[in-house]
Amino acid sequence: MAEKKPKPVVDKSKCTGCGTCVSVCPMEVFKVEKSKSVVKKPKECIGCRACEAQCPSEAIKIVE
Ligand code: SF4
Ligand code: SF4
Repeated sequence: MAEKKPKPVVDKSKCTGCGTCVSVCPMEVFKVEKSKSVVKKPKECIGCRACEAQCPSEAIKIVE
């Protein structure tokens, strides 16, 4: 049985490119490119939800 894997989804219409998600993610899942957060390593996500909680624009949702 495959475990449910969490992964972040960024709403680019809300993202301001502030970089908070890059700073708070312990797994280096995000990179900011062209002023938008890009989910670079979705498989590394451990589902801690720090990014979701701390994004000032509420642009990140964790889906499982
Ligand atoms: S914390 Fe939110 S607004 Fe800031 S770069 Fe990340 S997704 Fe975009
Ligand atoms: S839930 Fe945690 S590990 Fe996953 S992307 Fe957000 S901050 Fe990184």
